[in-house]
Amino acid sequence: MSPQAKHTTAGRSNGYASRHRTGTFRLALAGVAALLLLSPSPSTTSSIAFGQATRADVLLEGGTIYDGTGSEGVVGNVALRGDRIVAVGRFESGEVGRTIDCKGLVIAPGFIDLHTHTDRPILQEKTRDNLNYLTQGCTTVVTGNCGGGPVDVGDLLDKVDEKGAGSNIIHLVPHGAVRARVMKSENRAPTPDELEQMKQLVDQGMRDGAWGMSTGLIYVPGIFAQTDEIVELAKVVASHGGLYVSHIRDEGDKLLEAVAEAIEIGRQAKVPVHISHFKTCGVSNWGKIRDAVRMIEEARRDGVTVTADQYPYVATSTSLVDTLMRATDIPGGRKDLFKRMDADPALEQAVRKVVEGGLKKTRKVVIVSCKKHPHWAGMSVKQIADEQGVDVIDQVLRIQRDGGASVVNFSLCEEDVRYVMSVPWVATGSDGSAIFPNPKACPHPRSFGTFPRKIGHYARAEKVLSMARAIRSATGLPADVLHLADRGYLRPGAHADVVVFDPETFIDRATFEDSQQYATGVKHLFIAGKSALEDGKLGEALHGRSIRHRSP
Ligand SMILES: [Zn+2]
Repeated sequence: MSPQAKHTTAGRSNGYASRHRTGTFRLALAGVAALLLLSPSPSTTSSIAFGQATRADVLLEGGTIYDGTGSEGVVGNVALRGDRIVAVGRFESGEVGRTIDCKGLVIAPGFIDLHTHTDRPILQEKTRDNLNYLTQGCTTVVTGNCGGGPVDVGDLLDKVDEKGAGSNIIHLVPHGAVRARVMKSENRAPTPDELEQMKQLVDQGMRDGAWGMSTGLIYVPGIFAQTDEIVELAKVVASHGGLYVSHIRDEGDKLLEAVAEAIEIGRQAKVPVHISHFKTCGVSNWGKIRDAVRMIEEARRDGVTVTADQYPYVATSTSLVDTLMRATDIPGGRKDLFKRMDADPALEQAVRKVVEGGLKKTRKVVIVSCKKHPHWAGMSVKQIADEQGVDVIDQVLRIQRDGGASVVNFSLCEEDVRYVMSVPWVATGSDGSAIFPNPKACPHPRSFGTFPRKIGHYARAEKVLSMARAIRSATGLPADVLHLADRGYLRPGAHADVVVFDPETFIDRATFEDSQQYATGVKHLFIAGKSALEDGKLGEALHGRSIRHRSP
């Protein structure tokens, strides 16, 4: 990455996305607010059925409508009134607050990202607006993934609602954090009393509005949980009508065993299963994803609900230590590891073998950020090792000894990424987070580019899947996975979360080398009928709120 490229991303002044807020709709909306108070809740039938003209605050006129079902686009209008969609397609419009010409543009339901890690950034001043997701067309993002995030669901959602957020927030109870609260990072099964405490935390989270529970079975402490522990907790989730979401135990050599475990948890707990960031890692495992898809389709035929999400990139991203030194692969675990290694040459040899094995499975591992050595951001561990004149394994161990780093790991293959995208039960999920551009870091571009990349690059340019299918994987499908009512589809009565984008210019600009670049092409984004983004500019207020699950 050139220093100049870094400079242009700093402070979000790249010209497209600006912090300037516009208030174009304010007066129009205020004018109809009184009327709205008097009007009945929106009819679920298009007003044309009654031969009446449709009153609207906003009329999106003459766009190509993709309704989220996967049907091909049709040219028509979409009317928004208050926080709802009131008419879709061809209808007679009555009094209209604002008409927006959408000729040549796509009108679709606001995108729903099933997989983010934005639980903490969404409450922070600089990232609360979630701009890097709004510019992708996202109106709702799911947090609490991979077993991590706040356990106190009600507290998080209340804090979101206090000041609002750029997008709507849906939360999952994170199993790893629940386990850590009860048993710290103990590598053993819970006692009956500890299991009971965990069940109560999951139960409370579900009562407070979580949509399910997530696990992160490669991370400490989720990695120490056996299948039966997860089944017991997943039963609590099932009793509330929730979902089991998993970063499965292995995405490489033991991918199929890990998929089998996820399916088994669904079968035993009678809970829908959703596999996060579905992929095969490691050069020697490429292609295995097809066997995993076959297994899942068999389970689906058998009556177990199994779905997945995917980010459209050939690299993963997490900490260096979880990438190359997984806790269960290290003899005696990672506690006091370097102290123990210094006293035990045999252990040091064993750890070196683990790191060597990890490095063999990837094309390169690149530093996202490293506290002790910030200038290494964007460099591969191999490059750093060469520069330092040391062996690459020594270099990895040195970075870890110095406090670790987060990394991007190029361990996936393009063909697998394209294949997974073509599977009809795979939704789009970024695995990213709200980010305020930081010139000292080089994060995975998925946080800025996932949705436009799938739609603009893979659907429009590469024709890996149709535009209608790509849009469905970001709208109706994730809504179905969550059982999220009245979102993900354009139909009368649904929430007015709507994206309008230019299909010719909707594209990701974030690359691995210059990753903090906002996507282009979203012309309008509405959340609850209010303008959240217009031509890359944020609306006047934050319209995103928590969406709370209600147990049946
Ligand atoms: Zn994960």
